[in-house]
Amino acid sequence: CGIVGYIGEKEAAPILLDGLSKLEYRGYDSAGIAVFDGEKINIAKSRGRLKVLSDQTNGGNNLKGTMGIGHTRWATHGAPSDKNSHPHYNADETIAVVHNGIIENYLKLKNKLIEKGYTFQSETDTEVVALLLDYYYNGNILETITKVMSKLEGSYALGIVLKDYPDEFYAVRKDSPLIVGVTDNEKFIASDVPAILKYTRDVYFIENQEIVRLTRDEVTFYNTDLEEIEKKMTTVDWDI
Ligand code: GLU
Repeated sequence: CGIVGYIGEKEAAPILLDGLSKLEYRGYDSAGIAVFDGEKINIAKSRGRLKVLSDQTNGGNNLKGTMGIGHTRWATHGAPSDKNSHPHYNADETIAVVHNGIIENYLKLKNKLIEKGYTFQSETDTEVVALLLDYYYNGNILETITKVMSKLEGSYALGIVLKDYPDEFYAVRKDSPLIVGVTDNEKFIASDVPAILKYTRDVYFIENQEIVRLTRDEVTFYNTDLEEIEKKMTTVDWDI
């Protein structure tokens, strides 16, 4: 299982597929990507090998856009299937989420959302995260993310793309690995360094309960009180 994300000047989909291929060693049963083309979040996902997703999207060329997130899934809740593959999203497809980890209290949250009138398309624990973001969204995404985090029990590394934020995306972690990679005009997230080594060696290691905002030009880190925090960049000297 693994997550990746990209914002920059290049087409995102081929970079996401390439990054996911570097995380194959972590094991997976399904894969998916969401790419924002400036108007719409376009999603492709499928049970099976990355090759299935790659063929389905013509190597990523069918999904246009310079920002996106990707996922390889190791199913914990809900059998491997196209529907259960990530990204998961809300009804109007304005919020898309990839997730590694387990939301332990998802059933309680799911039942609450169903009471509020939400319908679910998958059997995953992850879908509650996408729908909780929708439910609590108040126009301020950082506030919404911390609100949702306060409801979640379990482990998560999340990548979040929103239609309201065409030039930035978000990432969060708790007890699942997450790193950020940077160049001058591109930013990456990944579960592990090999996914981005081809593009940069300048990385930040994200700690528990940190929230990351990534734009093409900058990356900003926050704690759950939404105070900006300073983090030290590491230049890795690993060979691929
Ligand atoms: N618990 C989530 C699911 O089953 C994410 C699994 C993963 O980390 O790939 O969909």
